[in-house]
Parts: sequence; C-alpha cells; structure tokens
Amino acid sequence: MSDPHCVFCRIVTREFPAEILWEDDRVMAILDINPIHYGHALVIPKGHARDLLTLNEDDLRAVMSATQKVARALVQGLGLEGFNIFSNNGKIAGQSVFHFHMHVTPRYPDDNIRFVLQLKTYRNDAMAEYARKIRDHLLPPSP
Ligand code: 5GP
Ligand code: ZN
Repeated sequence: MSDPHCVFCRIVTREFPAEILWEDDRVMAILDINPIHYGHALVIPKGHARDLLTLNEDDLRAVMSATQKVARALVQGLGLEGFNIFSNNGKIAGQSVFHFHMHVTPRYPDDNIRFVLQLKTYRNDAMAEYARKIRDHLLPPSP
C-alpha cells in the first residue's frame, strides 16, 4: 500500500514536503517540483502502484476524475487556452518516479513543446496484423 522507498508515498504521508493542491481519501494532487510550465501538476493515487498496469480500477477512476478537476482549476486559475495530460509508464517511456501519476501541464502559444515525431504509414496488411495482435489480448465486447 505504501512504499517507504517511494518519494510519492512519502509525500502522501507528509514525511516529505509538497505543494498540495487538493486531496481526498484516494488521491493527492501536487505541484511538480521541476515544472514544464509553472503550475504543472501531478495527480497521484495515495496507494502505491508502480504504473497504469498495476493500478487498481477504483484508484484509476479516482485519479482520472481528480485529473479533470485539477485541469479545470488550471484552466480557470491560470487562464489557459489548453493543457496536456500524460503519464509515462516504464523507464523507456521516460518514467522516473515509479508510483503512477498523471501529469497536467499548461500550454501556451509558441511554447515550442512537442514530441519529435516521425510518423509511419502501415504497409499492406500490417494495420490489420497489429490490430489482431492487440485485439487478442482484449476481452470480447459484452453482448
Ligand atoms: P515521470 O518522469 O515519472 O513521468 O514524472 C515524475 C515527476 O515527478 C517529474 O516531473 C519530477 O519533476 C517530479 N518529482 C520528482 N520528485 C519530486 C518531488 O520530490 N516532489 C515533487 N513535487 N515532484 C517531484
Ligand atoms: Zn509510492
């Protein structure tokens, strides 16, 4: 439930300081200590879970609901036209704190923040093949 070696668990227990924006029994929202833009917030479940894959569904729902609440507060409080929400899962994806969290970060005109993307196109049956590989691991739709 709580990992003594985890920085976010220690923020949740208030052993480590943080600028807390909001909390309820399941979730805490804090300011990121090294923001992409000032006001960059993190929404974390109070219970320890390494990533999206291991987060229980009740905490997932609570985190997503709090993420919407925090995003609305950023938009209204900072007068934003837009924002990004994202979550890095796994070291290869850029995760550095292994306690699941959603980032909510303000966006501004010409702030030059972008993924450098080289978009691909699917060849021949590749799209159907990728869909099949993924679909095989999803539950069938309910009747
Ligand atoms: P990740 O890289 O795992 O997606 O995001 C981790 C985020 O946590 C980073 O943006 C980093 O700045 C933030 N962070 C790391 N340690 C602390 C801390 O002790 N306090 C706060 N408020 N944020 C932290
Ligand atoms: Zn933790």
